[in-house]
Amino acid sequence: MPVPTARSVCVFCGSRAGRKPVHADAARSLGRALAEGGFRLVYGAGDVGLMGEVARAALGAGGETFGVVPQHLIDRERGKRDLGRLIVTETMHERKKVMFMNADAVVALPGGPGTLDELFEVLTWRQLGLHAKPAFVLNTGGYWDPLLALLEHIVHEGFAERSFLGFLEPVASVPELMERLRARVG
Ligand code: AMP
Repeated sequence: MPVPTARSVCVFCGSRAGRKPVHADAARSLGRALAEGGFRLVYGAGDVGLMGEVARAALGAGGETFGVVPQHLIDRERGKRDLGRLIVTETMHERKKVMFMNADAVVALPGGPGTLDELFEVLTWRQLGLHAKPAFVLNTGGYWDPLLALLEHIVHEGFAERSFLGFLEPVASVPELMERLRARVG
């Protein structure tokens, strides 16, 4: 197994594709851009929803891929077998930890409760000073606008420091994200 030298980007995203085709388009575009930019994709190893889209696009463009999946989800999320590297964990917690440890930055695409859980663990670890890795949300079609508004509300109501908002960097498009990734971890 070759030792990867590429910078790694952990992508959290839906195990579903959502209703709007724009989200799958963005996932494919991100997978290709990561591969072409020499970034290794770290993700949850599924072949469903946006997870499958981003991984197939990265593999199709010749990118390095690293998947992490708990044993009990291999069937449900159709664990991809053709990834550059696949780690099977016992628990969801181990999965999140292994994904995060092997990444230089994280990106959340549109997704559901699982995506939020993964993203918020990274943000709360950052708030506690446990790491300084950048976290981005790809705000395709304004999907994350309600979340960004909620975070403003939380700060306004005094339940988080304003500095918390700086831990999550919204980007409007894949080219903008790639520019930020190159500047921050490239
Ligand atoms: P979702 O955004 O709900 O489609 O889930 C996206 C990914 O997050 C999937 O790979 C799920 O297995 C994973 N996931 C779901 N629930 C959790 C959880 N509680 N903790 C960590 N990951 C989760």
